Amino acid sequence: MYYLEKISWLESLLLSLISNVFLYLFSIGLYLFIDKTCSKDKIQEKDHPFSKSDLYLSFITVFINALVMLIGVFLWKFQLIQLNNNKSIITIILEIVIITLVMDLLMYFFHYLAHIPLIYKIIHQKHHEHISTNQLSLFVLHPFETFGFGTLMLLVFITYPFSMISIITYLILNLIWGTIGHLNREFFPNWAQKIYIGTSKFHNQHHLNNQKNFGFYTSIWDRILGTYKK
Ligand SMILES: [Zn+2]
Ligand SMILES: [Zn+2]
Repeated sequence: MYYLEKISWLESLLLSLISNVFLYLFSIGLYLFIDKTCSKDKIQEKDHPFSKSDLYLSFITVFINALVMLIGVFLWKFQLIQLNNNKSIITIILEIVIITLVMDLLMYFFHYLAHIPLIYKIIHQKHHEHISTNQLSLFVLHPFETFGFGTLMLLVFITYPFSMISIITYLILNLIWGTIGHLNREFFPNWAQKIYIGTSKFHNQHHLNNQKNFGFYTSIWDRILGTYKK
């Protein structure tokens, strides 16, 4: 933490870029690893075809994510985001659960709004060009959408002095969940959907029918608000 307080803006930008490129490569590696080793059938017959334009857009997404991380560092340096790193392991686990559930609710509404026809055309249609998915789907997003999600996250981090470990764990979980959510094979066992987990099939259904399954980590909000499709 002491080192982070001392680094310059240029170093912060480089650090944000490097960590986001690493997370991007990790996501693609994890996707391909699960896809190659999982014995379950494909959910949809074919994966979405790979295209160069998707690859370039995914680079822009990584850049915007790095920018959001830089804004996070800026907010932390100016004490708008405060961290409290003296927490017990139980508190940290509780914080991770709370961040995940709060973000799940906010993302449900953000995603629901993104499907209002006019907004959809501007910021979300791009993601839905992938009716089936591939290793880039998670990163095929309009820059406004990427930035909107980042802003939601930063707003949550401003509200309470979470532990740095809780925030980092949440960010890694978010990436893994996003990767698994866009697999064209079911990663989770059958019982996972019964305990309201947002499975691969759950999000895949959203790509097939974009009026259902707006949630991300869980199916709780879709079930409560009547937009759930098995
Ligand atoms: Zn998606
Ligand atoms: Zn959508």
